[in-house]
Amino acid sequence: MSRDEALASLASLAQHPCAMCMLADPAHAPDDVLFATEHAVARLDRYGATHGHVMAVLRGHETRLEALPWDRYEALHRAAWAASRAVSTALAPLRVWVAALGAPEAVAQSFPHCHVHVIPLHEGGDAARPARVLSSSSGVVMYDDDEARALVQRLRDALA
Ligand SMILES: [Zn+2]
Repeated sequence: MSRDEALASLASLAQHPCAMCMLADPAHAPDDVLFATEHAVARLDRYGATHGHVMAVLRGHETRLEALPWDRYEALHRAAWAASRAVSTALAPLRVWVAALGAPEAVAQSFPHCHVHVIPLHEGGDAARPARVLSSSSGVVMYDDDEARALVQRLRDALA
């Protein structure tokens, strides 16, 4: 998927009052969900920066990580920790990045709702620069449904 196609697709997702609230619901696109806990859902990022990019999304709309009580903050980051271990085991990347970003307000590629990216790096050098990985400047990784289902199953199997 090209950057323009990804932006158009994300723009339609952004029609939802909060796209991340939708993704925080484990009943939404359940085939993409690695696991869900009381406070977080870990799911395959369908607009991922790299193959196997997972997001941990806070359940319940909150926009500022630092405003979360410790139990919710911890639960969100624990979900990212578990997902990062699954990504590492299943995909053996060179490195796994964990990033809590989020725009101050909704923009085309970023949502203020608290979430943590778990991004496996499969290449070094220029391809591993944050400015490349953490933007869609190089396009996004798209999966067909069968491919996504198989990948999510590999990640689920690696959770234990
Ligand atoms: Zn939200």
